[in-house]
Amino acid sequence: MKVFVMIGAPGAGKGTQAAILSERLGLPHVASGDLFREAVRLDTRLGREARRYMDRGALVPDSIVVRMIEERLDAPDAAAGVILDGFPRTRPQAEALDLALGRRGARVDAALYVGVPEEELVRRLSGRWLCRSGGHVYNEVSNPPAVPGVCDVDGSELYQRDDDRPETVRARLEQQLPPMYDVIDHYTTQGVLVAVDGGQPIEAVTDALLRAVAHPAGPGRSEAA
Ligand SMILES: [Zn+2]
Repeated sequence: MKVFVMIGAPGAGKGTQAAILSERLGLPHVASGDLFREAVRLDTRLGREARRYMDRGALVPDSIVVRMIEERLDAPDAAAGVILDGFPRTRPQAEALDLALGRRGARVDAALYVGVPEEELVRRLSGRWLCRSGGHVYNEVSNPPAVPGVCDVDGSELYQRDDDRPETVRARLEQQLPPMYDVIDHYTTQGVLVAVDGGQPIEAVTDALLRAVAHPAGPGRSEAA
């Protein structure tokens, strides 16, 4: 079984790349958020346990998250391997994953880090603007209005939600990035980390990831732009 772990900050394009790699490599894209929602929706035993925490706004403990991932690893369509997206998020989760894979005679073959500088992440994540009258959505980077601050459709004023402001985005990243760096460190130590420049166009990032996956082994690899 081939196990690839996707690593990247919010806004780095990790989920997009995971979906593309899944198709190109013929391995299921296992996004932990989807797993969660699905378990809760289907009201599985683990879903019910997870829900007890989610209902009171608490974090679902690693023991439950890891069991969900393990169940997914044992599904028939994962026999050839998986692309994990959104898990592991912390060093303890990465260690738990190693144990779970070890019990199945497997290991993480490559941890694929889509790296984007923090200021670029802030730029990407804080670019959302909404229109006051129709709720039309714009993005400074990917879908800018013809005239800044004005809706193309109805001419009404555009505004930013607090969540989408640069200072809010920056504060959120400061919480999210340190655990991610721990995970990167974990896989660097194991010699399976592949760092790819996420600032390139989507197709170039995909090509770099596919090249890295096609040439396994060799510690401390880094795919340059
Ligand atoms: Zn509008």
